[in-house]
Amino acid sequence: MNKKKMVNLIIDGRKLSVKEGMTILELAKQEGIYIPTLCHHEALVPYGVCRLCVVEVIRKGWPKVVTSCNYPVKEGIEIKTASENALRTRKIVIELLLARCPEEKKIQALAEELGVKETRFRKKDDNCILCGLCFRVCSEIIGVSAISSVNRGAGKEVTTPFKENSDVCIGCGACAVVCPTGAIKIEDIKSRRRLDKWNTEVKLKKCKACDNYFAPVPQLDSIKGKTAVLKDLLERCPDCRRKYTSSSITKAVEPERKS
Ligand code: SF4
Repeated sequence: MNKKKMVNLIIDGRKLSVKEGMTILELAKQEGIYIPTLCHHEALVPYGVCRLCVVEVIRKGWPKVVTSCNYPVKEGIEIKTASENALRTRKIVIELLLARCPEEKKIQALAEELGVKETRFRKKDDNCILCGLCFRVCSEIIGVSAISSVNRGAGKEVTTPFKENSDVCIGCGACAVVCPTGAIKIEDIKSRRRLDKWNTEVKLKKCKACDNYFAPVPQLDSIKGKTAVLKDLLERCPDCRRKYTSSSITKAVEPERKS
C-alpha cells in the first residue's frame, strides 16, 4: 500500500507531524483552528479566489502570505493563521467585498467579525462576490457547465454563453444552493422554473398522481440516463412517490400474508 509521507511543521505554535498532501485549511480544520472562507467548498477543487483564507507561512526564514485553501503543507514550515500580516490582508479583502456588495448580510457579518466597520472603497450595489462556487459546482458536480466566468477586472461576471437562455442548464438549482450571498434566485411559476441570473427558464414536470409541478424536466431526464431509478417513480412528486412505493410494497407482501 502507498503510505503517505509525513511532514513536520508548526501551526499557531503547535508542533505537528501531518500527512503530506493536505492543505493548510484542511489542517486548520482538523486542529479546530478557524479560518474564514467564502469561495471554498469541501466537495470542489480549491480555487483560492476570495483570498479571505490567507495565512502567513514562514519557510526557510522567509515569511509570505498565502491562501490556505490551496497551499499544501510542507516540511519545516511555520504557519501563523492570525498573524498581523494575514489579518491585515483579510481586512482589505473584506473591505473590497463590502464595497462591492454593501447590502449582503454574509459580507456584513464577516466584516464585523474582522473588526471592519466601514469601507474606504467606492460602493457598488452588486450581490455577487465572484467566488466561482456556482460555475464550479455546475461543471465539477453536475457535469453541465451551463455558466462560466467571463471578462476581466471590473467587467468580470458569471453568466451563460452570450447571456442567453441556456439550453444545457438542467434547472437543478445547485448553483443557488452553494451561493454564499443569495445572488442566484430560483422561482417556480406554474409549469416553468425561472433562473433570472442566468436568463434561463426550464420546464417543470407535472406529477402524474397529484398534478402538481415538482421538478425540472431536464433534471429528471438527466437522472433517467444516469441511474436505474424506475421511470415510473420519476413521474411522481416526492410525496406521491413515497405513497406509490409503500402501496407497491404492501401489494407485493399481501399475497404472502394471505397464504
Ligand atoms: S441550475 Fe443550471 S446553472 Fe445552476 S447548477 Fe444546475 S445546471 Fe448549472
